[in-house]
Amino acid sequence: MRKIITLAVLFTVSSFTYAQQTDSAVIRSIYDYTLTQSDCYKNLDYLCNKIGGRLSGSENAEKAVQYTKSVMENYDFDKVYLQEVMVPHWVRGEKEEGYFINKKTKTPVRICALGGSIATPKSGIQAQIIEVKDLDELKKLSKEKVKGKILFLNRPMNPKHIETFKAYSEAGYQRRDGARLASRYGAAGVIVRSLGFSNDPSPHTGAMNDTTEARVPAIAISPIDADKLSEELKKNPSLEFYYKTNCQTLPDAKSYNVIGEIKGSEFPDEIILVGGHLDSWDLAQGAHDDGAGCMQSIEVLRTFQKLGIKPKRTIRAVMFMNEENGTKGALKYAEEAKEKKLKHLAAIESDAGGFTPRGFGIDGAKEAMDKIASWKTLLDDYDLHELGPGGTGVDIGPLKAQGATLLGFRPDSQRYFDIHHSTADNFDRVSKRELELGAASMSALVYLIDKYGL
Ligand SMILES: [Zn+2]
Repeated sequence: MRKIITLAVLFTVSSFTYAQQTDSAVIRSIYDYTLTQSDCYKNLDYLCNKIGGRLSGSENAEKAVQYTKSVMENYDFDKVYLQEVMVPHWVRGEKEEGYFINKKTKTPVRICALGGSIATPKSGIQAQIIEVKDLDELKKLSKEKVKGKILFLNRPMNPKHIETFKAYSEAGYQRRDGARLASRYGAAGVIVRSLGFSNDPSPHTGAMNDTTEARVPAIAISPIDADKLSEELKKNPSLEFYYKTNCQTLPDAKSYNVIGEIKGSEFPDEIILVGGHLDSWDLAQGAHDDGAGCMQSIEVLRTFQKLGIKPKRTIRAVMFMNEENGTKGALKYAEEAKEKKLKHLAAIESDAGGFTPRGFGIDGAKEAMDKIASWKTLLDDYDLHELGPGGTGVDIGPLKAQGATLLGFRPDSQRYFDIHHSTADNFDRVSKRELELGAASMSALVYLIDKYGL
């Protein structure tokens, strides 16, 4: 008890007029506070364990909207509100089932339908498999060869890349376009190797491009199972695969972006946005993707408030809806911002996991880049070494055309694809300390942008 009182006194006494302090002292206070008294881990625990996976249009997505709204209202931010948006509503349905049949022996395989896929017929699909490792191999195949069979796209993510997102973007077409390619070749179905590294036991779901053209039921299997299936096919090329899925696309549903803000004291019309996406895939709790980014964003505002840092500009936390399978929330947000002629000075997104911070990717004008680079010495002490051009975020992307400098929070990427869109993306995979370091790094950056502009 005594310890708690001492800390409370400490933070009240040091509640500074921040303009009088050096930048390094303010940033130190931000880290000290976040690493000892932040709420982000506790809030993420609730989102994951009390609500769980929250695909757009689902009851859980609605619960997450109400929950994050109430969290921000309880913090007494200056303004908390919902922004209505219509979102796609795809549901997985009940039990999915898959196995391969080799000389009458059935070997079960964990499968998951890809987001937006159509279902198999009620009795499932059973057919021989045509395996290809890449697009070149597919191009060499005749339609006659593929027709009526199950196309198996088995390109592994390249483990030689240090930046795992590079491996993801190279192999990602399999998931995004696999069903369309299979449809063009007249296949009965498509099996996609999940976008994880080779020791991964879980199937990963994810969105597909242009589902109107993809008229075959699409599933993913884990990298481990993909290797196993490939080995079996070498021994018996005519083995058959069976799978059954029950997914369907329902009419669009009403949902919301959730927004909270602290009003700027000098330039209230200039907005610095921090955000993540509130929806998640349904296979797990959406802890890293992207409950972490949402809770870190709320924590930025809470940190300013608790430390008594009065921002000059308006700081706004946005929980975007529907990043995973439509980005309707992001489009709606940008559309309204344009209509209302809002000025977004900067938009920062955290959607690469709640892992150890490394820095921020930047997409903006040269002067803004140079200014951010000039803060390097202040941020180096906190291991934020990467401050340069790079990927930012799907939800903030549309704000670029309105002049915002975009920044993507960049954590260590090594473990991200162990959990991304799979059954493993749960709260127990999140480190409290790493999550808090991420929140603190976002707060520090927002502090500098607010003080110096861009
Ligand atoms: Zn995400």
